[in-house]
Amino acid sequence: MRILLAEDEVALCDQIRRVLAAEGRAVDVAHDGDEAAFLGATEPYDAIILDLGLPRRDGLSILKDWRSQGIDIPVLILTARDGWSQRVDGLDAGADDYLTKPFHMSELAARIRAILRRRMPSADPVFRKGSLEFDTRTGRATVEGVPVDLTQQEVAVMTYLVHNIGRMVSRMELSEHIYSYDGDRDSNTIAVFVARLRRKLGPDLIRTVRGRGYSIDAD
Ligand code: CA
Repeated sequence: MRILLAEDEVALCDQIRRVLAAEGRAVDVAHDGDEAAFLGATEPYDAIILDLGLPRRDGLSILKDWRSQGIDIPVLILTARDGWSQRVDGLDAGADDYLTKPFHMSELAARIRAILRRRMPSADPVFRKGSLEFDTRTGRATVEGVPVDLTQQEVAVMTYLVHNIGRMVSRMELSEHIYSYDGDRDSNTIAVFVARLRRKLGPDLIRTVRGRGYSIDAD
């Protein structure tokens, strides 16, 4: 899952990025409002973390613009401690959730997991199919109760397919959601990750839609 992080406090930004990266998220960073507005309008993020107090352009006007353009990516806003009216305005402008600074990184990570899950057909964070269990919170997989080692990229592919269960996902779409803007995107590597996931988790888990992409069936 790919996330845009729009935050101008460099130390805080680095801290958030590390926490999200450790969960296998691909993270793009915007340090000012213009960059945030541009990236959010042009890249297919799965969620956006938007500080409302950004240089060049304030977060609230960016959020209103996105929503008026029909961009419905889930947005978590970050506000100052005494910014209750900002929070009200942000939620009214289409934010999905908010956090007040300062906050604990584990709470931020949990709120991001929750807003990502809202688009899934099942509210259960653990995906089960046959003898496979895949926990979307931790990226841990077990087959018949036995833990299976997955690389960060395998977890990223699996997470995106599970969040889009029952829908065909192209290689291009997968690579846009598992790599950051600067990431070295090569859609051939996607086929390699899928082959490894089949070997580790079961040959019938991920269906190839010939010439179009992959899907995990909801059955
Ligand atoms: Ca700020």
